[in-house]
Amino acid sequence: METAPGPRMNATFVTLARNSDVWEVARSIRQVEDRFNKRYHYDWVFLNDKPFDDEFKKVTSSLISGKTHYGIIPEEHWSFPDHIDLDKAKAVREDMAKKKIIYGDSISYRHMCRFESGFFYRQELMLNYDYYWRVEPSVEYFCDIHYDPFRFMHENNKKYSFVLSLYEYAETIPTLWDSTKKFMREHPEHIVEDNSMKFLSDDGGETYNKCHFWSNFEVGSLNWLRSKAYGDFFETLDQDGGFFYERWGDAPVHSIAAGLLLKKDEVHFFNDIAYYHVPFTHCPTGEETRQELRCHCNPKNNFDWKGYSCTSRYFDLNNLDKPDGWEKQT
Ligand code: GDP
Ligand code: MN
Repeated sequence: METAPGPRMNATFVTLARNSDVWEVARSIRQVEDRFNKRYHYDWVFLNDKPFDDEFKKVTSSLISGKTHYGIIPEEHWSFPDHIDLDKAKAVREDMAKKKIIYGDSISYRHMCRFESGFFYRQELMLNYDYYWRVEPSVEYFCDIHYDPFRFMHENNKKYSFVLSLYEYAETIPTLWDSTKKFMREHPEHIVEDNSMKFLSDDGGETYNKCHFWSNFEVGSLNWLRSKAYGDFFETLDQDGGFFYERWGDAPVHSIAAGLLLKKDEVHFFNDIAYYHVPFTHCPTGEETRQELRCHCNPKNNFDWKGYSCTSRYFDLNNLDKPDGWEKQT
């Protein structure tokens, strides 16, 4: 396959993974390469709280058509900060285990969520780039990507993007909105006027409706995440301790930030990037699009217009027309 012409952005794929994830990561890479990167050759950064082993490096670098980089996360980005009461955090995990809340008893999952919320974009290897595209193990890409999403983001002044949105489990974030409101009070200068508050709240900001963009897929601006506004937001949340005293996910954290710190037209929905991460599928709405992009997803599985998706809200608040054929997929 020929290399696509045109300029390249200063951009990279980024995957957080354990050595044991290697074959699931390989499946994801294969699809990203086949559908897009074999013609664009963007770099790929891998991050891990432990050193990557030779097998991981060999398998991944042989599949990727761009340069690969492997980084170790510093301990202070993957551990309990000093202000966290470890006994209190432990009691929470035990309680969540009894309530059978998914990952409720896991320490490593909490480090992961905090890392993805506040640290991945300031890892040394990431400082070289302006844009990132997050890829997780075992995801699927069902359609060709005929243009450069990084360049699209740049040329259209987009800072954050998504393909799937849904409601968060309330039990994992009981006080996340309280901390958000505190941030809004303390830092009104960071809240932009033409924001997406309507995506996040049905009562003008009093309560959170739990809508969030699913962050296992993201194409976004690293410079935005490295801004004072985002940094102050993360710092407020981190001080309040909910990554450990509850189980705050990076998806609602990124989403609330995108919703309040970005103008609504800086957040983009990629209808034409078809994607699966267990258990949800985004299969492009519109038969013509699916044929043109040689998609292999079943349109019946598209989650976008189903009741548990928040994507309709995004369309409504941005006054966007839903793609043709959406009614057939509700
Ligand atoms: P889920 O999608 O919320 O079910 O969570 P995943 O298990 O997919 O984890 C999210 C991302 O973090 C994936 O890219 C994982 O490979 C990565 N990840 C999760 N836990 C760890 C960990 O303990 N160490 C490392 N290095 N990566 C992790
Ligand atoms: Mn995952």
